[in-house]
Amino acid sequence: MGANPDLYIRQVLIGPMANFVYFIGSKRTRECLVVDPAWDTDALLEIAEADGMRVTGALVTHYHPDHCGGSMMGFQVPGGICELLGRVDGKIHVHKIEADGLKKVTGVGEGDLVRHDSGDAVQLGDVKVELIHTPGHTPGSLCFLVDKKLVAGDTLFVDGCGRVDLPGSSPEQMYETLTGTLAKLTDDIILLPGHDYGPTKESSLGDQRKTNRYLRMNSLDDWLRLRGR
Ligand SMILES: [Zn+2]
Repeated sequence: MGANPDLYIRQVLIGPMANFVYFIGSKRTRECLVVDPAWDTDALLEIAEADGMRVTGALVTHYHPDHCGGSMMGFQVPGGICELLGRVDGKIHVHKIEADGLKKVTGVGEGDLVRHDSGDAVQLGDVKVELIHTPGHTPGSLCFLVDKKLVAGDTLFVDGCGRVDLPGSSPEQMYETLTGTLAKLTDDIILLPGHDYGPTKESSLGDQRKTNRYLRMNSLDDWLRLRGR
């Protein structure tokens, strides 16, 4: 129903932390971007190649190493955006206020980045990826909306949401994101989370509004109580 015939999208479970990597591209131009390409660059590039797709860069939901590689607080993850850039020609798309953190965690150079504002779009063939700023888990977290699918990183999981107790997290911003920004999206949009933490690998926002307690909060007090504050 209303599906874009040019859209190539694929979900891949990878690594010991149950991360979901996504490929988003155009079947017509055979170009795709990888969302959060951590853990295993070879495996990811082989998947794209087997599908006849060429990787032309990455979209970053946020700067944590399990999503973009690199290291943070002694936690190190293989693969990631720098290794990807050693293998393909492309750019790394990131929210402008997440970019400095991304450079610190991964060592990526400024010249390899495209710094985005909320509301920007990245075009691949006839496929338009909208970038939505969803701070809370990190200051510059992004969700990607493409053809009624929401690639949500660590902002929203099936029946859960991202941690807000990490450096750079903000419980107050996450509350705004969950009850304000995401509340504007329609029930028929499919949530594609950044980790396989839920009972299913994807879920409609309509279903999530019934089963995900973090989308059913009535007040900031509710939220702080749910988060044990
Ligand atoms: Zn994270």
